Amino acid sequence: MTSQLLPPIDVQPEAAPFWAAANEGHLLLKHCPACKETTFYPRTHCPLCGAAQTDWLQASGQGAVYSFSVVRGARRPTAVAVVDLPEGPSMVTTVVDCDVHAMQIGDPVSLRFLQAEGDQQVPAFTTVAAEQARQYARRAQDASRHVPGLPALGEGFAWRGAAVVGAGTMGSGIATALLAAGLRVCLIDRDEAALQRATNAINQNLVSLAQRGKLPDGVRESLHDTLRTSMRMEDVAGANLVIEAVWEQLALKQEVLAQIDRHADADALLATNTSTLDINLLARGLQRPEALLGLHFFSPAHVMPLLELVRGERTRADLVAAGMDLGQRLGKTTVVVGVCDGFVGNRLFIARDQEANRLLYEGALPEQIDRVLTDFGLPMGSFDLADMAGGIELGYRYRQSRGEREPVGDRLFEAGRLGQKSGKGYYRYEVGKRRPLPDPEVVAIIEAVSKAMGIQRRRITDDEVRERVILPMINEGAKLVEEGIATRASDIDVVWQKGFGWPDWKGGPMYHADRLGLAHIRDRLLALQQRHGERFRPSALLVELAGSGQGFTA
Ligand code: NAD
Repeated sequence: MTSQLLPPIDVQPEAAPFWAAANEGHLLLKHCPACKETTFYPRTHCPLCGAAQTDWLQASGQGAVYSFSVVRGARRPTAVAVVDLPEGPSMVTTVVDCDVHAMQIGDPVSLRFLQAEGDQQVPAFTTVAAEQARQYARRAQDASRHVPGLPALGEGFAWRGAAVVGAGTMGSGIATALLAAGLRVCLIDRDEAALQRATNAINQNLVSLAQRGKLPDGVRESLHDTLRTSMRMEDVAGANLVIEAVWEQLALKQEVLAQIDRHADADALLATNTSTLDINLLARGLQRPEALLGLHFFSPAHVMPLLELVRGERTRADLVAAGMDLGQRLGKTTVVVGVCDGFVGNRLFIARDQEANRLLYEGALPEQIDRVLTDFGLPMGSFDLADMAGGIELGYRYRQSRGEREPVGDRLFEAGRLGQKSGKGYYRYEVGKRRPLPDPEVVAIIEAVSKAMGIQRRRITDDEVRERVILPMINEGAKLVEEGIATRASDIDVVWQKGFGWPDWKGGPMYHADRLGLAHIRDRLLALQQRHGERFRPSALLVELAGSGQGFTA
């Protein structure tokens, strides 16, 4: 990304070897043969004894933080730091791509490079902890590809074509992803205008993929052959992949899936893109319940790198293997998960945001909670994300369908505060701008909710916020492993890295838990349980692992 590049470097002749070495991944220091001192001083003479000639010396690339200040508002986590090098000198540099808010003086760091315009590499450092987390993140992604007990796909297996039923936001994105991967797509909706809108959206999506160099040649040109639209369910025939993406209503989805089941080819994989419904329940009325699985795409489906593949209790193993193949073809990180409310990703998300809401009732404000979450390393907080992604309306409708209430979100919805699209939500927005601005009207709504709930608002520290939003995620993750919804704890980390922007320099929620120590987490959850109630009770697996000194991700 151009925006991540540093400005061009003006290379002085004396320092040319320094920059050439940087381009090869090395940091050069200067060694003076006269006084035997090593310096970080890319000039010919020695700055200590004045000797006219010095030699270049390759640094080990290791160091320790001597002092630092965090750069607020940087595009990537950045601290300006003085780093002590084992060769002797200290170096003023930047420490990047790591947990700068949790950094401590003395933390070990290792060399990392930033790119400047013109391809010049510029030495910087990152913490050793962040590097280990990145290595773990790569291992976790590799591990997620291996699902125990899946058969290999048959020799002659090939995707004949796909049908997508429901041409809304998700249907258009899913169709785009399929087309970009070279599949033929039949897009079906009962609303002609929706099909027209979807065709336009798909065209636009493909243009933007092409502009970013992410579309193979010929895909757009052959669109009139590869994409067809239809209002007849019979047209799912001929494809061996049918994905349902109609409105999130159980009865509607059951009806649509029954029709798909009736008309689809005998060998077709049937998939639903439901985000909240029980796939076992959706499979129940079908003639071939074993052919149904969940393909939980994230929005926008042609951009987001994660696919949760939801395996129902009756889903055939060879179709799970086919689903994994599809995910790979689409270039998605595909994680197999079991059936539960929210699957893996949203279950942690819901646990976090429910607690974020409780913090609002007790005394925190959206801007504090969001700041704590972004300082923690997440790309957005609970409330600015809700404003951006339509979460106030989605949440309201979801709660309505289940007879639940969340007083702050409900009042915002009822006041027409739907987030960025209406210019106000948990925050207010200036016309045409996306920067969330704290809004006294929201403070008034939150304070009124606290009063109505009989809660005396109090000052809540950032540490309390962090603990109360992060620990429930970890506890929920432990329950997912315990319940067998996640094959392994590291899969939860992959889902959060790829679907929710958990930074790779922090591994994932379960990896983070291991770094904090499970005994510590158990004790903190027990303390929170005592103070705030049962929802903080540590999961049996967490207690067991903490008791035996183990971790989730070892
Ligand atoms: P949407 O409202 O944009 O589109 C739904 C489409 O389904 C509409 O075009 C509608 O005409 C069509 N439809 C309704 N009944 C139909 C029928 N009987 N036959 C054919 N077409 C029919 O909805 P969306 O946001 O694309 O969501 C679709 C599904 O994807 C839902 O299950 C949703 O939970 C899930 N999902 C959404 C997101 C998201 O962020 N929007 C993310 C993941 C999953």
